[in-house]
Amino acid sequence: MGERLWHDGWLRLARRCESPNFGARPAGVLPELIVIHSISLPPGEYGGDAIERLFMNRLDWDAHPYYAQIRGLEVSSHFVVRRDGELLQFVSCDQRAWHAGASQWRGRGNCNDFSIGIELEGLEGSTFEDAQYDTLLMLLKRLMRRYRMTGIAGHEHIAPGRKHDPGPGFDWTRVVAALHWPRRCFPEDPMFDR
Ligand SMILES: [Zn+2]
Repeated sequence: MGERLWHDGWLRLARRCESPNFGARPAGVLPELIVIHSISLPPGEYGGDAIERLFMNRLDWDAHPYYAQIRGLEVSSHFVVRRDGELLQFVSCDQRAWHAGASQWRGRGNCNDFSIGIELEGLEGSTFEDAQYDTLLMLLKRLMRRYRMTGIAGHEHIAPGRKHDPGPGFDWTRVVAALHWPRRCFPEDPMFDR
């Protein structure tokens, strides 16, 4: 039954917005790590279409002064969860999206090769909406059923010092409690030892 929800790595429950920013995963490599991010464009402003535009290379770089800092950036994430819980998908989970950058998980570099990126609309350090947790937890459970996910981490955990999202406003306790995944699936950080 779960299989019908997926088509070539696309989840039917998500609004499909195809990004050109992706490539093939290395031969034989399957997604097994989930990376949680936060993003808002401009930072702290919610509800517009700038995130979609960024991931689809359609952002007007002159539309806001902040965009000068990211002009020409070509990035993507597999999923985005809006503030109201709406789920968008930009890249097939069978493909490699461009969200993690220089990164490492349990001694393995280039996390984009073997991960699925999920962006929560929000501001680093700020909190997230109940509707976002609802969608995120649904998505995590679907991903676990469809693929053999072995880990979940924040961008801050796989690129420490360089990245800080989703930040302290993200409620990992809520995620840990809802998923019932083994301790080894989470980062080697004392805050997960509960
Ligand atoms: Zn990030």
